[in-house]
Parts: sequence; C-alpha cells; structure tokens
Amino acid sequence: MAQLEKLMAEMGEKPYRARQIYSGLNAGKRISQLPAVPASLKAALTERFEDEPVRIIKTLVSSDGTRKFLFSLADGNLIEGVLMSYKYGNTQCVSTQVGCRMGCKFCASTLGGKIRDLTSGEISAQVQLVNALYAQDKKRGVTNVVLMGSGEPLDNYDNVTAFLRNISCPSGINISLRNISLSTCGIAPAIYRLADEGLPVTLTISLHEVTDEGRRRTMPVANKYTIAEVLAGCDYYFSRTGRRYIFEYALIAGENCDAAHARGLIKLLKGRPCHVNLIRLNRVEERALSGADERTAAEFLSALQAGGLSATLRRRMGEDIGGACGQLRASHLKNTDGN
Ligand code: SAH
Repeated sequence: MAQLEKLMAEMGEKPYRARQIYSGLNAGKRISQLPAVPASLKAALTERFEDEPVRIIKTLVSSDGTRKFLFSLADGNLIEGVLMSYKYGNTQCVSTQVGCRMGCKFCASTLGGKIRDLTSGEISAQVQLVNALYAQDKKRGVTNVVLMGSGEPLDNYDNVTAFLRNISCPSGINISLRNISLSTCGIAPAIYRLADEGLPVTLTISLHEVTDEGRRRTMPVANKYTIAEVLAGCDYYFSRTGRRYIFEYALIAGENCDAAHARGLIKLLKGRPCHVNLIRLNRVEERALSGADERTAAEFLSALQAGGLSATLRRRMGEDIGGACGQLRASHLKNTDGN
C-alpha cells in the first residue's frame, strides 16, 4: 500500500487511487479490470506493469476437496499451488521460485534447477486470485498460507519478506503472520535475518534426517549448514519471536525411519519448543525413493511421542491429483514436450 501511494504521487495521481488499486488487486482483478480506476490510469499502469502477472490455467479437484492449481506467469513460466480445506479454514500452499536450486533428492520441484525467483507481486497474486475465487460473503477464501510450493523461500529473501508484509497488511487481505508458515531446507544465516525482520511467521524446517551424514545423502544444503547450525538458528528465532517452530520429516522407506532414527530425533529435539510434522514421502515418478508404509509411519510416530516429542503424522491430501511438490508442473511440462 505504501509503495502504491508513492507510485501515485510519482504519477501525479490523487492518493485515494492507491487504495482503489490495492483493493482491486486484492480482489484478484487484473489492472485493466480494476473497478473505479479511470481508463487512462489503467493504461498508464499496464505500460509499466504486467496486466495479469499470474493466471490460473488448470485446476484439479481431489476427492478429499483439495484443489491444485497450475499458474502461468506473464513470461510463460509455470508454478503450482494447492488449497487444502480444514475445519478451521483453508490453507494455501504458495510457490516462491520457478523451480528450485536446492537439489533435494526426493523433491520434484528441483528436477530442472532454478529458473528464476518470483517477484513479491507474483507471490501475492497467487493468494489474491485463489482468495477471490473461494471467498464467501465476508469470509476469506484463504485463511492460512504455507510457503511450501516450489522454491526455497529463504533463497528469495527480499521478495518473500515483501510478500509477507503485503499479505499481512491490515488494509489488504490481512492474513495474520501467525497463520503463515515459512518452510526452509535450512539456510542458517537467513534464519537469523528473518528472526530480526519483525515478521513472526511460523518457521518450519525441512529436517528429514537426524545426522549430518545422513542428511547430506538427500539434501545437498546439508553440506553447507550442519543440523547444529540450523538448530542454533531456531533457538535465535524463538528468542526473538517467541514462536514455536516446526520440523518437517518425510518418512522415506529404508532411509530415515527405523528405531535408531526415532531415538536420534528425540535426542536432537527433546525439550525444544517445537513440533514434528511427519509425512510419508509422496512418490515422485522421476525419483527412486518411496514413502514408508503406514505401519512404519505409525510406529515412528508412537516412538517420538513416547520419547516426549510433540508430533503428528500429516494426512496425505490430494494424493489422487499429484500432491507432492512440483508434480503437476513436471507432468505438464512433459506432456507439452518441455514447452
Ligand atoms: N524449499 C522449502 C519449501 C518447499 S518444499 C523447504 O525445503 O522447506 C515443502 C516441503 O515439502 C518440504 O518440507 C519438503 O522437504 C517437502 N517435500 C518435498 N518433496 C516431497 C515429497 N516427495 N514428499 C513429501 N514431502 C516432500
């Protein structure tokens, strides 16, 4: 909003135009369709900015109500997103980059590397579009946001923090920072930076292993930052924000979910103000790894709980429509011969 006010001043427009534009964009409108804004101003704006930065080109609906979207960006790049319905509201999973350069061995988003960062406008537009589609009366269509789509949010720091400011702005969609989770593979220095940013989102760490050696097998970022360094970042985050943090742990058959791993995880995390989110790895066609079976997952969960950790096993949602990171985009690219 402040940026728009500045822009209006620069363009010699009345300050109230900023509010009109902001509310139109937050209602999911493209610039050329903004209500109440004069055609001449809209034309001047579309000369400087993309009229429609993000467009939904495909929506898949799962039998459990999960919706998966394929978005097209103005330059033709594709990203994806998911909307999951829960009792308390709707959680949207948002992408922060086209592709990803982190190289995790189980993830489809990183198969073709990073193509580019998303702008803060492109990250915001994903929420603006989906929120407008599912809003009812005065109820928001999107109540919670997780930065768990394609990309590593802390590898696109400035655009992601600008997005967080925008989406939590009281005169905008106004999603509380408490209802936003930022998920990272563990870029330790950026966790410290985020802690000092004054944006107390829920920090989520993709851990997936209990030793550095094991973690390096599936997550190249572990060559750069050790688990101890990431945990020290979490301590600092908690000291600055008072927010409990979360660990994601994808159970991979034969890799990271036997009794010794459970003991290792308890030793690592016991006493910390944290929660562990287990998920059975979603199988990605292009990857050789597969998820642990239900029994192994249930046993792993009980072991963690018996060891004193707060832990839950995440329900798999939207499995029939390709729930895992990057699967929709990857299959679309394949079907269209990479174009
Ligand atoms: N780059 C960020 C956010 C995007 S990934 C991060 O690493 O946290 C969002 C979550 O999905 C991460 O926890 C990631 O490890 C996990 N994930 C990736 N591929 C998966 C798969 N095939 N099955 C289950 N979870 C997966």
